[in-house]
Amino acid sequence: MGNTKHEGPMKLEKTPDPKHWVSPVPFGLGKIKPKHIRDTMKVMWENKDNLPYATRILTKGVCDGCALGVSGLQDQTLKGPHLCTTRLNVLRLNTMPAIKEEVLHQDIDELRKMDSSDLRKLGRIPYPLSRKPGERQFKRISWDEALDKMADKVKNIDPKQLAMFLTARGITNESYYVAGKVARFLGTNNIDNASRICHSPSKTALSRSLGIGASSCNYQDWIGSDVLVFWGSVAANNQPVSTKYMYAAKRKGTKIIVINPYYEPSMDEYWIPSIPDSALFGTKIADDVYQVNIGGDIAFMNGIMKHWFEMEEVQPGSAIDHDFINEHTNGFTELKEHVENQKWSDLEQSSGLSKERIEELAMLLAKSKSGVFVWSMGLTQHRFGTDNISQVANLAMLKGFIGRENCGVMPIRGHSGVQGSGEMGADPFVLPGGGFTSENIERVENVWGFDIPKWQGDIVGESIEHAMLPDDHERKMKMFYTSGGNFLETMPDPAFIEQCLEEVELRVHQDIILNTSTLVDAKEEVLVLPAMTRYEQPGGGTSTSTERMVYFSPEIKGPRIEEARAEWDIYMDLAKRVKPDEKHLIEYESAQQIRDEIAVGNPKYDGIQHLKDQGDVFQWGGAWLCEDGVCPTPDGRGNLLPIEIPEHRKTEGRFYVTTRRGKQFNSMIYNEKDPFNNASRYDVLINEDDAKKLEIQEGEAIVVYNQYGKLNGYAKFANTRSENVLVYWPEGNVLIPKGVYEKYAGIPEYNTAVIVERAETFHAQKDMKYVEKRVEELEMETT
Ligand code: SF4
Repeated sequence: MGNTKHEGPMKLEKTPDPKHWVSPVPFGLGKIKPKHIRDTMKVMWENKDNLPYATRILTKGVCDGCALGVSGLQDQTLKGPHLCTTRLNVLRLNTMPAIKEEVLHQDIDELRKMDSSDLRKLGRIPYPLSRKPGERQFKRISWDEALDKMADKVKNIDPKQLAMFLTARGITNESYYVAGKVARFLGTNNIDNASRICHSPSKTALSRSLGIGASSCNYQDWIGSDVLVFWGSVAANNQPVSTKYMYAAKRKGTKIIVINPYYEPSMDEYWIPSIPDSALFGTKIADDVYQVNIGGDIAFMNGIMKHWFEMEEVQPGSAIDHDFINEHTNGFTELKEHVENQKWSDLEQSSGLSKERIEELAMLLAKSKSGVFVWSMGLTQHRFGTDNISQVANLAMLKGFIGRENCGVMPIRGHSGVQGSGEMGADPFVLPGGGFTSENIERVENVWGFDIPKWQGDIVGESIEHAMLPDDHERKMKMFYTSGGNFLETMPDPAFIEQCLEEVELRVHQDIILNTSTLVDAKEEVLVLPAMTRYEQPGGGTSTSTERMVYFSPEIKGPRIEEARAEWDIYMDLAKRVKPDEKHLIEYESAQQIRDEIAVGNPKYDGIQHLKDQGDVFQWGGAWLCEDGVCPTPDGRGNLLPIEIPEHRKTEGRFYVTTRRGKQFNSMIYNEKDPFNNASRYDVLINEDDAKKLEIQEGEAIVVYNQYGKLNGYAKFANTRSENVLVYWPEGNVLIPKGVYEKYAGIPEYNTAVIVERAETFHAQKDMKYVEKRVEELEMETT
């Protein structure tokens, strides 16, 4: 925690500088790039029935898209407008009317013919619904009926058989806080949130390395830093306005380095609509791109450190910050010894980069006096995600890039609610204000006035799998209460997830729209509850950005879905029905009362109680966490950790596969074409030389498969690292094994090895595939 305060938005240098232009040809004519004006017109057309309300949401609300953070059209980084097509695309979720009755109550199989994009476009969920197995349609029920059914189920199962989940789509801190509290009030710690499948390793790693669970710095620290590294992050696509901050950084001489298996077009060149010279001539963003193997980042970072130690042998002080290391870290000797023992050949093989290339980045970082590391799913979604992030922390600490201006480590978040969800305690490992430790449990019990269950709750993936346990197992998940989320389209092995969802006795989907998971049968009943958006909630709500800014989003006047309720109010109502005698412990009269309690429950959030009007914002923790190198660890020092190179799980001739996002917001698809490379959702990005060795032509039908599944796609030649292919997410989830979780943070592994073949070859030889699987089936027949 630091004393320095963020100074608010700064002015952007706007005099054109041709040095950064992509080309003097205006508007990138002839290039593949997003069409911002066309997309904006399309959104206006979609919202034409509710334009004044849509405008009020944009000008007064806090964006419910990504977690870059903006209130109205102003952010805390740069003066000037802040708006992007991601926000415009999700706008319709807030302005559309209810689903038509005849559509909502049609045969379930008719609804099942639609994909989630079609279901989303039907409109808002209008009232509570129920559907039991064998029933062909959703039936309208009252709120009382729905909540009584839920309360009965909670009373009749072991609390360990209840699991709750909250997505990050527009949910406010107030709802996360009440959900976390209600879960414990009902006796369960099985509560989890969407960060489990995106940034949970960031929090776990930063906590063990630096004692923090969030970005240590601000976006303003990018601007004027010597070097800004994007590691496994396509911020230009997922947090589009970040390109404006990148532009500002470049104008101040910052070098931008991108590390990714694919030479990401959007991080190479971008046309920033709100900056005239960039909108016209584009901005060259990346100064250099390192195309690392999927899963090769740990080796790459060990290589960087190894070269630093070699430089130090020749000239002490030429690469690392000895003062910072001596005064503020533990574990230097062990880390140095570990890294020095690594062989260059192993580092090159694992990273896919030559020693010379690794040394190049090592030298650039060595010369830099300041630096910021930004990362995303390219580092977190691995079975060694926590180790990946601790490596980033190692680099930052060795350079002293922590706790001061233009320096820091930043897990950039893609969802507006995801930073606050854990901080509010909607997480099995976290309670408000800290971890699930006896000390914090006792503190929170004093705030809440009731006992918190002491057993360790499950992560959401395990909870879902626990639906398959025998009926009498104490952890068999019998009731699943999920706010948003579409597990069929976010978790590995969708077919298995569907079986699990069907096994749950009572499934409750609290949401604003239907998705494919909502339509899956449950063993006894599916309930669907209509939730309010963040803009409809009485008393407004708050949401926390990547840079720890807590923004207030007011209630905005406009049309309402008559029966939709604030999510915190629904949780509270359920709790009161389960334990009417103790309802005084869980009752809130207003959102303000919740904020008052958050300020006490999570002392870092002291200040949230004062947020009342549009534009109100505060940053918890000050401008820099670990300011002046002092970390909130027990001894005040950061921990340098030796990290092993992960085992390679790819045999000769196979490819690593990872997933990529196109024109989408999380699993919501907004366009079948990726605006940055013109790829379709089933295109497989493959290196041209690799494809030629397999006699695969551009555009040819191919099959990507392994023992877990098969994806029928089309070859799209792309500048990817050789032997690395990319498929779109979530379509590619069929290739990912189920049940492989990172051991510290529980994120599912989203990368694996695959075989790529021409479809013709695959089908001609398909009787020879899956030898292992056939034997397994034979064994089952004989027993
Ligand atoms: S960049 Fe993110 S926070 Fe900013 S407008 Fe777009 S979606 Fe919203």
